[in-house]
Amino acid sequence: MNKIVIVGTVAFDAIETPFGKTDKILGGAASYIGLSAANCSADAAIVSVVGGDFPQSDIAILESRGLNTEGLEVVEDGKTFFWSGKYHNDMNSRDTLITELNVLENFNPVVPDQYKEAQILMLGNLHPVVQMSVVNQVQNPELIILDTMNFWMDCALSELLQVITKVNVITINDEEARQLSGEYSLVVAAQKIMEMGPEFVVIKKGEHGALLFHKDEIFSAPALPLAEVFDPTGAGDTFAGGFAGYLAKTGDFSYENMKAAIIYGSVLASFCVEKFGTERMIQVTKKDINQRLEQFKNLTQFTIN
Ligand code: AMP
Repeated sequence: MNKIVIVGTVAFDAIETPFGKTDKILGGAASYIGLSAANCSADAAIVSVVGGDFPQSDIAILESRGLNTEGLEVVEDGKTFFWSGKYHNDMNSRDTLITELNVLENFNPVVPDQYKEAQILMLGNLHPVVQMSVVNQVQNPELIILDTMNFWMDCALSELLQVITKVNVITINDEEARQLSGEYSLVVAAQKIMEMGPEFVVIKKGEHGALLFHKDEIFSAPALPLAEVFDPTGAGDTFAGGFAGYLAKTGDFSYENMKAAIIYGSVLASFCVEKFGTERMIQVTKKDINQRLEQFKNLTQFTIN
């Protein structure tokens, strides 16, 4: 079984959508990525940090889905990373209200010994210096995937550019691709980002799907049209987790197989948005996933006579 190391935030999120509001609930990039990748029969470990205020029951949720949490440090006298966001009525855009780094400010990640030879390294959203430290601890990964966001481009761009030189795949949303490259066209943006290091660029476009770029090739996948989107928080991370998990499961890192990984990520993201926070991801079954994969096939197949 391929091993996958996932680094990213494990957080408290407070979310407001037109459908309602939550208090501090389990969130964070690594939580979403992990819960998603866990559906792919990969051996996945989370490397992150939380404070003494983080409930054991939330750690138990991650473990119950088969995630290894040995690399999840608990700083007893610290506070967990906290993020709060409010969605606009169209659910496509949101305002970040609060980002409190808390225990993340002094975090030195430690990859558990048994994962130092992992095949896949998934660098989720977190300080690029922490991402780089994890890159340096995993001995010989076959594939490094990086996800990031505007927050780190604004406050740690040079460190982020360093990490980008080390990775094979970057997953990023459309606005962030534009910010990182300084280009409005996503095609030109992807070309510029490939020049920074990664051979593959995945641009996430929310409800409009995702694009995969490699050399001069482009693959486009829609998002599954849903009757109701309840809370898009974590959809991008869930997509990245499904993408990485599928690659871990198949062990095939070719452009052709990455197309299937994009579809797998899109299917998992379609579950994430159906309920608040991680709630839906905790319940999703293999049967649910297979049904949606079929729906996806029907959505995109056609015959020309
Ligand atoms: P997404 O909706 O895919 O962008 O992911 C939202 C998740 O990212 C939430 O669970 C937040 O806890 C987490 N998050 C928000 N801001 C940051 C940040 N600056 N660094 C890392 N994770 C973050």
